[in-house]
Amino acid sequence: MAKAVIITGAGLSAESGIPTFRDKGGLWERYSIDEVANFCTFEQNRVKSFKFFNEFRSLLKTARPNAAHAALARLQKLCGPEHIVLITQNVDDLLDRAGCTNVLHVHGYLRQMQCLDCEHVWDIGYGNWAPYEPCPACASLAIKPHVVLFNEMAPQYANMHAVMDSLTADDCFAALGTSGFVVPVAGMIHGFMGKKILCNLEPSAYLDGQLFDHCFYMPVTQAMEKITPLIEAALAGKPVSLKIHVETGFKPVSEQG
Ligand SMILES: [Zn+2]
Repeated sequence: MAKAVIITGAGLSAESGIPTFRDKGGLWERYSIDEVANFCTFEQNRVKSFKFFNEFRSLLKTARPNAAHAALARLQKLCGPEHIVLITQNVDDLLDRAGCTNVLHVHGYLRQMQCLDCEHVWDIGYGNWAPYEPCPACASLAIKPHVVLFNEMAPQYANMHAVMDSLTADDCFAALGTSGFVVPVAGMIHGFMGKKILCNLEPSAYLDGQLFDHCFYMPVTQAMEKITPLIEAALAGKPVSLKIHVETGFKPVSEQG
């Protein structure tokens, strides 16, 4: 059986109340993200950065997986995790909490802390971590949230590229809730001949819809009922339609059932 590789981004969790880094509102308006999440200046902004990530973790505690997270978990359960490979740019745990397994978190995991000296990584749940609290394994103070900061290497990218390189023409690829700006999705699917599906709130300058067989410009929660059967059909070996299909629609969250 073929496989589907699904890359998700901030658009997936936005409907769970986790704003994208560039969104206005709440936590994100009170901090300069370039200041608190920048590897080059992390040490000099340490107190403020820890405060930001502590608040972000506490926001995650009250967030709930939405219908799109749940639909992906159902699809993965139905087809098996070896056939539905989930890669996410999101540092939240909403896919995992919805019941998804083996999720590749390429930008880290908000619930975890990491030690830069001994490489120990540990889960602190949704709690706080004080700026100068030492590593529980080696007592070093070189601790940071296990989240890839701006100007920091993303070690899981190698695994992401390995997954992408393993795609064959029988497989399927979907990009959900991502503009293709941070992770260069357009370049990654160059030459891939299998079925390609895109869902984003609106067209993005970084991700040409014409690269895809199906484009949905709407919230992911709204598009999943159409995307799920497309992925199932692709996995079942049904032929790829040569006609590009684009659908646009936006229903305010308040009108969703
Ligand atoms: Zn350590």
